[in-house]
Amino acid sequence: MTQALKRTRTIKPIHVLAFLAFAYAGLGFFNQHFFHWTRSFWLSGYSEKIVIVVFGVWRVTQEKNPYTRRRIAVLTFLIATLWLLLPYALGITFFNHHTVGSLWFFAYLVIIFCFGRRADCAWNCPCVGIRDTAGDPFRDRTIKKDWLWRLRHVKWVFLASILLYLVLVIVAPYEIFTLKYARGFMGINMGLYFASLLVIPWTGNRNYCRFLCPWGALYGLIGRLGFFKIVVDKDKCTECGRCERQCDMGVPIRALLREHGEINVPDCVGCARCVVECPQNALTVVDVKDAIKNGVSAIRGRAAGAG
Ligand code: SF4
Ligand code: SF4
Ligand code: SF4
Repeated sequence: MTQALKRTRTIKPIHVLAFLAFAYAGLGFFNQHFFHWTRSFWLSGYSEKIVIVVFGVWRVTQEKNPYTRRRIAVLTFLIATLWLLLPYALGITFFNHHTVGSLWFFAYLVIIFCFGRRADCAWNCPCVGIRDTAGDPFRDRTIKKDWLWRLRHVKWVFLASILLYLVLVIVAPYEIFTLKYARGFMGINMGLYFASLLVIPWTGNRNYCRFLCPWGALYGLIGRLGFFKIVVDKDKCTECGRCERQCDMGVPIRALLREHGEINVPDCVGCARCVVECPQNALTVVDVKDAIKNGVSAIRGRAAGAG
């Protein structure tokens, strides 16, 4: 397996700033939900979103690739509006699709079936928001080893935990054990989530997404069953490995392309870094739009044949 981006150990001011931002985001969340030191907006669940907006603007000015720049700009805009301004100004939390069992939670599963896990994990999740903005300076630290790729199966335990949560919310929404389970589920997952931010300097930015995230596991499974995948033109691919070096999720891209001619695994967050970095333009993203186009072409073809 290839190494990550050009791996460095140098610590620059941006690394220190990003690490302090992770700590600030975590303190805000735990202050609001567990410790209650202050009721200030500046030290609350919004702290993480403030970090994303500040570092998101910086990332947009720095990013060279047009597609990734557009993705980070849209991601920052969605976090600023749906996760920060609307909830704060209007008290609307409707768009939080991580609220298990909510209407928007189920709507998002449909979106993910059509467009892949990227609908959340690349374009509209505070988690990717902080990891692709403040976490960006640490992308070169991503550890890519065969044993870590095998460790990805740990996430199925977390998938089981969110499915149990979903069942409880549906069949016994107001029971005391459902509320206790919800609190325990959120406490454990948010604890792991913010702890994972603090070890990003040693593991790379997507550590939580790779092994621990229950939402990511669920979205990965739904996406795997749906329309999204990345296909390769084998005549163009030179097996240079550049795509693999860009992948923050540690996906063994070349092996998958060699064996299956496509990337269609629950671990792919659909960031498309591999696609846009391929010097041969050998990779193409496919989703529900292509299925519809192919269906329409087939119908037209049959109609033309019959005529
Ligand atoms: S895997 Fe989880 S933490 Fe990572 S972007 Fe997706 S939902 Fe967010
Ligand atoms: S970057 Fe492109 S050419 Fe190189 S291995 Fe990946 S798909 Fe093949
Ligand atoms: S395989 Fe490509 S699209 Fe999927 S996570 Fe890796 S770089 Fe992103």
